[in-house]
Amino acid sequence: MIQDLHAHTYYSFDSSDSVEKVIETAILGGVGLLGISDHNYGVGYGRADLCYGRGPSLDADYGKTLLRYYDHVKASAARYRNRIKVLCGLEISTRLSRDAYALPTAQDVSLFDYCLIEGLDEENSFLKGDIFAFAKRCGCPAGIAHTDLFGFLARRGEEPARFFRRLAEENIFWEINVNFDSLHSFRTHGYVTEFFQNKKQQEIVRNAGVKLSVGFDSHIAREYKPDRVKTANKLLRDMGIRLAFDGIE
Ligand SMILES: [Zn+2]
Repeated sequence: MIQDLHAHTYYSFDSSDSVEKVIETAILGGVGLLGISDHNYGVGYGRADLCYGRGPSLDADYGKTLLRYYDHVKASAARYRNRIKVLCGLEISTRLSRDAYALPTAQDVSLFDYCLIEGLDEENSFLKGDIFAFAKRCGCPAGIAHTDLFGFLARRGEEPARFFRRLAEENIFWEINVNFDSLHSFRTHGYVTEFFQNKKQQEIVRNAGVKLSVGFDSHIAREYKPDRVKTANKLLRDMGIRLAFDGIE
């Protein structure tokens, strides 16, 4: 089953697509497992189509807005269940510079099917390079979004094989982000290109038993490129690498 675990809707500030539009685009593209993963700050503070240009509504009831998003995605998942499997995820920013957008410390996110954690390798991330405690705190399966993990580990002098084994043990997956759209200036991720060429990296990931996910990180449904998603799914499977949520029906 072709998977894409990274997609945005109007619950994120930087997308204006409806949940239904994103699901139908994935169905047309031949995706069998779609994860909707809106930004925690967009979900928590207000939909882009309602407050775009006005910034987040900081007086919103964060817990309620998360539930509103969750219920909408789950209702859509049920509606489309004969054509596609839809998961409800949450992309969580760990950047301090976007303090106002941070996930409230006590906010429960364990009901989500998974979360994508972004900013691990960034200097202003409150993770300070430690993914493990925060992934546990989320209480749902967690993945590391669009991060050059091999580069990150090299800079820290950490041994990749050990790190990836620990990811596998703690059931944290790593995202292969295949985005290519105008929002990201038609840039591809260098770490993904490198990974697909680097047999040693592939071997480390395979031997560790860590799961990878594929994500287009769509913010504009009309610019969705399912072929990039399909190719990445196939390349990873041909390498004998397991994908996140493989086996889910
Ligand atoms: Zn994203």
